[in-house]
Amino acid sequence: MLHFIFLSICFIVASLGLLLLSKTQQIKDRDKQVDVLKNSLEEMDEQAKLIMRTDMELNKTQEELDKKVSGLNILQRLSRDISTTLEEKQIFKKIGNEYLEELGFEKSLAFLWNDLKREFHPCLNLGYSNDESEKIKIAVNTDKNCYLDLIHSGKTASSVFIPNDFITKDKIYQLFLVRSFIICPILAQEGDQGFIFVGTQNIETCITEGDQELITILANQIGQTLDNARLFEKTWRSQQELEIKVEERTRQLTHALEEVGKISKRKSDFISSVSHELRTPLTSIKGYASILLAGKLGVVPDEIKNRLEKINRHSDELVHMVNDLLDISRIESGKVNMHMESLELKYIADKIADLLSEQLKTKNISFSSNIPDDCQRILADRSQIERVFINLVGNALKFTPEKGKISINAHRSGRIIQIDVIDTGFGIPEDAQERIFEEFFRVENAINQEVKGTGLGLTLVKHIIEAHQGRIWVKSRINEGSTFSFTLNSD
Ligand code: ADP
Repeated sequence: MLHFIFLSICFIVASLGLLLLSKTQQIKDRDKQVDVLKNSLEEMDEQAKLIMRTDMELNKTQEELDKKVSGLNILQRLSRDISTTLEEKQIFKKIGNEYLEELGFEKSLAFLWNDLKREFHPCLNLGYSNDESEKIKIAVNTDKNCYLDLIHSGKTASSVFIPNDFITKDKIYQLFLVRSFIICPILAQEGDQGFIFVGTQNIETCITEGDQELITILANQIGQTLDNARLFEKTWRSQQELEIKVEERTRQLTHALEEVGKISKRKSDFISSVSHELRTPLTSIKGYASILLAGKLGVVPDEIKNRLEKINRHSDELVHMVNDLLDISRIESGKVNMHMESLELKYIADKIADLLSEQLKTKNISFSSNIPDDCQRILADRSQIERVFINLVGNALKFTPEKGKISINAHRSGRIIQIDVIDTGFGIPEDAQERIFEEFFRVENAINQEVKGTGLGLTLVKHIIEAHQGRIWVKSRINEGSTFSFTLNSD
């Protein structure tokens, strides 16, 4: 029995031991699970913290972004507003009055460099009293080299970043009475450059890199607008100067023209009165020579007859010349009325050829006319236009050697008919071509010493053509020939 009890106790003890062991194992397992859980909780906590941090950063970035977008919007409005401003003062006035505070800066100053005075002068003031801005101006000019270096380097100084060789942040805080700031160069290509300063006293709204970017854009915009304004002023000023010059020149020219008019009138009056005075004695001389030649006052010996014939011929030439002179001055002063009528060009050309046929034959010169159908009718004064043809074809005949050619060509352009009188004559030197239509001008050459003339024919022709609202010009080559061209209105 005792043996059985002992065995039972042993069995119970062993069972309890086993139970204890399994429980201990269970507890160990639970502990392990608790550890794993603890670790995961810790990780979750870390992640939650990270999420919160990221969320905060995201919020901050969003804020920055919002600030940037609103800043860019303000800059866009400002840019539109000042880009149409063409006065330097107005540009800064607009920026200072309307936009800088909106961008979040309660203090601002801008300075431009005056190269003549070698100093900075203020052109914008926001948030400073006159005394304060004067004090800052003096200090800026004391350190002008530092500011000039900053401008030339094109760098921006701010409470975020300050170039090594620039003034210290603390000095700027003290001078400009701010807690954060940006100083940005204004770079203009035309004229003076400068810088803009913006700042804030509020420690909450300290300046960021985003603000720095905005002010850099603003400074560039100011630079470009200044360039435009200065270019405009330069152009406007040179236009004013030009206008003054043009006015002065016009006055001078009008005066000179009046003088020329007066002189020309005096000359015409003189020529006309001298011609008139000459005509009467010339007619008498010619009359007496004719009476003597006709033998009405007795028989005239041959020797005297010869001389009388010379007197007669020279008198004719003089009368001719005096008449030309009188006509020129009459046409010039508008005293001759042109009787405009519809004329047939071919008929005039044939008539001239007929008139000069003897001389053409003598010199064995061929004559032709080429007048197309659409050039047949011109609007002109018959007798005056016939004089033009007689003079031009007469000259061609005079200055063309034997066996040469003379032709009259015509062509039409709109309502204008151009007529060319072409010869294969001696030609006219280039320097003489410009003066050929002047009164009494004759080319100085051996031919002209032989060929008689007054140098008035072409002047008369020019006056007649101009009285018909036409133009006349010459093209010529020595030893090849000349072409006299003129225009008339078609009918
Ligand atoms: P004139 O014939 O009486 O000298 P014009 O005024 O008719 O006066 O001509 C002026 C000058 O122009 C002439 O002296 C001559 O030298 C030159 N000239 C005019 N027509 C011709 C021509 N067809 N060929 C060469 N020279 C010409």
